[in-house]
Amino acid sequence: MERLLEVRNLRVSYHTYAGEVQSVRGVSFTLDKGESLAIVGESGCGKTVTSKAIMGLIQTPPGEIKKGSEILFQGKNILEFSKKEWQQYRGAEVSMIFQDPMTSLNPTMKVGLQIAESLMIHRGMSKKEAFKEAVKMLEMVNIPNAESRANQYPHQFSGGMRQRAMIAIALACNPKILIADEPTTALDVTIQAQIIDLMKELQKKLGTSIILITHDLGVVADIAQKLIVMYAGQIVERGNAEELFYNPQHPYTWALLRAVPRLDSEKKEDLISIQGTPPDLIAPPKGCPFASRCQYRMQICDEVPPPVTKISETHEAACWLHHEYAPKVDIPVGRGG
Ligand code: SF4
Repeated sequence: MERLLEVRNLRVSYHTYAGEVQSVRGVSFTLDKGESLAIVGESGCGKTVTSKAIMGLIQTPPGEIKKGSEILFQGKNILEFSKKEWQQYRGAEVSMIFQDPMTSLNPTMKVGLQIAESLMIHRGMSKKEAFKEAVKMLEMVNIPNAESRANQYPHQFSGGMRQRAMIAIALACNPKILIADEPTTALDVTIQAQIIDLMKELQKKLGTSIILITHDLGVVADIAQKLIVMYAGQIVERGNAEELFYNPQHPYTWALLRAVPRLDSEKKEDLISIQGTPPDLIAPPKGCPFASRCQYRMQICDEVPPPVTKISETHEAACWLHHEYAPKVDIPVGRGG
């Protein structure tokens, strides 16, 4: 498989009056052509900062990508890109959709023109050609009456249609990677499912690789092949969808799974929210970052960072429970359980 992206030891900090917030602390992963990867975690875990770094959207200052971090796109470190390379990369190679399409769409510009604009910039098309192509893109994302819709403004679209239009803009130049940051959070449940189905359909049709950023494990079950669970700026577990849903190995992943509603669960109390708050990333804990919220916490958890244990070729977790002398605990959750 063709390797598109390789993130190596990414560390990103933000300099604030209170001190240096270490938002991303040594994150590494890969993405191949046609693959879909979900990065899951609560807000503040570093998932959005990671995606912004891949898009080159970390503002410096106050942000800083630390020395030693590498983001390789097709083997080339994007952190060393020239201005011209950035222009080609953003939009034409990698593009992004955000949570709230209303803030990303230009309210004073017709939707068709907003799609056409990126084709004119990146593909050198004339306005007429690009507008025609924009109508086709709106059809592709299943917007009815695409031609007349292309001449409307964002406020004339429903929330779901606006997100479809955002996807059309993001895919207009046929990028190799689409980053979707909480793309369904602002939408109601039925529309959420439609947007995920659309992304799946387009991925199949166009072969685009997807990075889906979300706090909701329930959203990714159908779409992601690979999953990364992040907590306090670090990866605590990674694996393929089957491994993470049927055989999760980290207490934080267990907690996330217990917060996802199940169709076969009738009792309200089956849904458990995660107590406590994530640690302060100005002074991250010296041991396990999840220790203050973990019911399995041992003395060593507070003192030494947990080693990463390989569960399978594709599955690993960073938790002291996998040490040979650790007490054996039953996995309390998992779709198979
Ligand atoms: Fe819990 Fe310890 Fe594992 Fe951290 S290392 S998740 S505190 S058991």
